[in-house]
Amino acid sequence: MCILCDRRRTSGAWNSRRGFLKVAAAGAAMAGGASALFGPGIASANDGRDDSDGRGPEFSGQHGRRYLIRGGAVMSMDPAVGDFVSADVLVEGKKIVAVGRGLAASGIPVIDARGRIVMPGFIDTHHHQFETALRSFLADGLLINDGSNTPSGNLTYYENILLRLAPVYRPQDVYISELFGGLSQLDDGVTTVHDISQIHHSPQHSDAAIQALLDTGRRAAFGYFEGAGLTHGAGYAYPQDALRIKQKWFSSDDQLVHMIMGGEVYLGAETYSQAWTIGRQLGLQVAAHILSPFGIRPILDQLALGKGGVNGNIGIGPDNLFVHMTGMSDMAWQRVRDAGAQVSLAVPIEMNMRHGMPPILKMQSLGMEPSLSVDVECTLTADFFTQMRSMMNMQRLMVNQMTLDPGFASGNWWPAPPAGVPAPLTTRDVLRYATVNGAKHLRLDKKVGSLTPGKEADIIILDAQSLNVAPLNHVPGAVVSLMDRTNVETVIVAGKVRKWKGRLLDVDLRRLRQQLEDSRDHVLAAAGITQDLFSPN
Ligand SMILES: [Zn+2]
Repeated sequence: MCILCDRRRTSGAWNSRRGFLKVAAAGAAMAGGASALFGPGIASANDGRDDSDGRGPEFSGQHGRRYLIRGGAVMSMDPAVGDFVSADVLVEGKKIVAVGRGLAASGIPVIDARGRIVMPGFIDTHHHQFETALRSFLADGLLINDGSNTPSGNLTYYENILLRLAPVYRPQDVYISELFGGLSQLDDGVTTVHDISQIHHSPQHSDAAIQALLDTGRRAAFGYFEGAGLTHGAGYAYPQDALRIKQKWFSSDDQLVHMIMGGEVYLGAETYSQAWTIGRQLGLQVAAHILSPFGIRPILDQLALGKGGVNGNIGIGPDNLFVHMTGMSDMAWQRVRDAGAQVSLAVPIEMNMRHGMPPILKMQSLGMEPSLSVDVECTLTADFFTQMRSMMNMQRLMVNQMTLDPGFASGNWWPAPPAGVPAPLTTRDVLRYATVNGAKHLRLDKKVGSLTPGKEADIIILDAQSLNVAPLNHVPGAVVSLMDRTNVETVIVAGKVRKWKGRLLDVDLRRLRQQLEDSRDHVLAAAGITQDLFSPN
């Protein structure tokens, strides 16, 4: 059966919100652009590679296999490639071969992207996926008990998630949380993650985390951090197990998952010296949470002076990736900038859990740009539309108020911005943070982050005809200001279709959800916590 002919005859379904996969007739001229695809006879051929199985182009991502994404509004995020009201993206194997108008598609599968936005997948540079089983458990909580005896001050992250719950995780708990959280973000269009898995209580825990990242089938940096709340005991092998892990799992650069070394400075000079030294010997990036509490500010100052660690000789370098950077000194900031270190901001979490003011204005004043990160789903969603909107709105709140404030004294109620107040962020700015910057901050910018020929094909196709978006008037604005997970129609990682027409492929979500619930039950019980859906404690 020709699915194309059948749909056209029976339903006139060309206006359907879902695209159809078509196989162009061999030899059909495609140079006329998208409209040529629907000319007489062109789509009548059917060699079995149609969409009757609901999976998209057959063998996508495999060596030599080509398909064309036809007629979408293409936002490449690469200034040299540009934007197109309507263009095509040609994919072969893992890579993008061409981006442009009217690309030839003879005999290869075609994804109809008309009415859709085609752009690079989102990149999350800091996420604790092992906490997926604890989603929304800490929806009201702060970072640390503040003695206030309030609902927020009592059920806190440090005491409950890290010290109480993390230590009872078994390797199988790590695996299912990592897998389920990763699939969930894949469904949301986040094609790359830096998973800061602070759950390395044994080499078996580490291997379970890595296996889950591989099984998720998306791009990831495996962040090898400590085992939260349990930093000693039989089998505890952080940080020295990094050597085994690197050799066992990450001997090749040509794979979807690579390794980053965790080097938390709050673990003390001896441990972080060891971690940073091992990471640098292995040629890995060295990542760390840097934030107001836990006495981190004076430690970062020492590192900024090149006098950190037990021997007073460790400094900040271009290999550092710092998360949050709330409450740090001007001197340390200057050094972070001069060294070329990267900074990831988790704006919703920073605002919610008392990390301090997200330092976007500081970064703008230094000519730096952040990447974005979701941090913890025990408190907030890992959705990237939320990330982009939060960053834009938080920055605008600050600069708008800084602009209005001087007017109150003068009686001018709509003054011009004072000197030194940064421009309000635009939708394009936060899209850059969410794609290109994320790739750069994970050392993946040669591979992904934009729709550039030669890069790997990490592509999302977003429905711009749906009830919450139509009519399409502004492509960056539609994505940042209007969209949510329901608009993420198709997700492609390294050329392979992983979500097709709104459905994740190759996963049994019912079975995985059961495993996640079983794991949640074990973790809570082992930590001595009685489940209470309306008042966790
Ligand atoms: Zn974090």
